[in-house]
Amino acid sequence: MTRRFSADVAIIGGGLVGSSAALALRLAGLSVILMDKGFCGAQASGVNYGGVRRQGRPMGQLPLSQRAHQIWPQLNALIGIDGEYQRSGHLKLARTPEDFAKLEHYAETVKSFGLDLELYTGAMAKARFPWLSGNIAGASLCPDDGQANPRLVSPAFAKAARDAGAIVLEHTAVHAAVHTNDGFALQAGADCEITCRFLINSAGAWANKIAAGFDEPAPLSRIYPSMVVTEPLAPRLPVSLGEEGGGFYCRQVTRGNYIMGGGRGYALADPDFSRPSTTAALSVMKRATTLFPHLAGAHVIRFWSGTEGQLPDNNPVIGPSGTTPGLFHAFGFCGAGFQVAPAVGAILCDLVTSGETATPIDAFSIERFRNMSSQHNEKKGTHNEMVE
Ligand SMILES: Cc1cc2nc3c(=O)[nH]c(=O)nc-3n(C[C@H](O)[C@H](O)[C@H](O)COP(=O)(O)OP(=O)(O)OC[C@H]3O[C@@H](n4cnc5c(N)ncnc54)[C@H](O)[C@@H]3O)c2cc1C
Repeated sequence: MTRRFSADVAIIGGGLVGSSAALALRLAGLSVILMDKGFCGAQASGVNYGGVRRQGRPMGQLPLSQRAHQIWPQLNALIGIDGEYQRSGHLKLARTPEDFAKLEHYAETVKSFGLDLELYTGAMAKARFPWLSGNIAGASLCPDDGQANPRLVSPAFAKAARDAGAIVLEHTAVHAAVHTNDGFALQAGADCEITCRFLINSAGAWANKIAAGFDEPAPLSRIYPSMVVTEPLAPRLPVSLGEEGGGFYCRQVTRGNYIMGGGRGYALADPDFSRPSTTAALSVMKRATTLFPHLAGAHVIRFWSGTEGQLPDNNPVIGPSGTTPGLFHAFGFCGAGFQVAPAVGAILCDLVTSGETATPIDAFSIERFRNMSSQHNEKKGTHNEMVE
């Protein structure tokens, strides 16, 4: 028997982007149906590193990132848990003088955004952060950046949306979506037909299939960041740490485990699933023991990876469709969407309810890929290492 649903807004994809949009739209009084092909928050949004940082983002992303920065401390009120969010600080290391010069240049360039970056030469960094070893030419601290637990935060947004009245359908893949006279008609799962006035495409690494269905493909490829986690160890690392140019990032959770990432995993035969790579894991562990010699005998207890959408200019697509009124896209976060996702949800709510948003998003328009031939879809993206 067919199950029929009707809502103001239908959302394809219950990652943190789709779920935060669902919650914001419900709080704005619209009826919402949120669909995920698996469990909400089980893909990139639930398996990422947990870095909640503004430092290192390109200028164009900083207004979006700043908006998210205002939302993160409100998690308790919004979703009923703090998601282990803490403003621990984000410390970016430079291995070489050239890399330190890049950190200095970045600090100067983003001064007006209020990140309050603190720069340290190598010797100063080792004095200020005595738990650091190895080759450090300098460092930049963003004191109010931080970290959170993605496994808690992302599903909690979907739960909060459901508690606020959204219809949440898990294990319900949307397999057809068409524009109609008064909105959209969707087919999902084995037996669902959905009609809606507005449609949000927040299907993560799978979103291009939906965009292409509305005649606006984007050159979205997939990346599979590789992660490891150690056994719990004595508390020592108070900040979330990254490196200029990427390649290594690390944080220690309050239970004591070190969560570390760097390099890429690879897709399995079914590219919805991925595995971490041994090469990446070994390189991460090597760098970790250089910076933190006390990790030399530590046990790594788990390796994993996740599936993330990547665009060639390392910016996401956020905003209205160029072909279809009432359709909005938000995908392709290039390994850095966890921090900004709650703001993306708020922006999608702005766009649906008023047709505009105060947060600058022109740089993220899908129109920048207009005229792109669909053959580009299969092209591999750049190997940006700026995950975390
Ligand atoms: C290992 C890893 C580490 C990362 N580290 C960080 C970090 O430290 N900091 C940071 O800011 N970012 C990080 N990121 C990036 C961040 O996790 C993502 O950018 C962000 O979670 C993207 O959210 P999303 O909702 O767009 O996508 P997703 O979480 O992938 O959600 C998309 C959802 O759409 C669903 N879907 C797809 N197709 C359909 C369909 N047809 N019908 C219904 N549902 C569908 C999927 O099942 C999925 O649940 C990392 C990513 C990975 C993989």
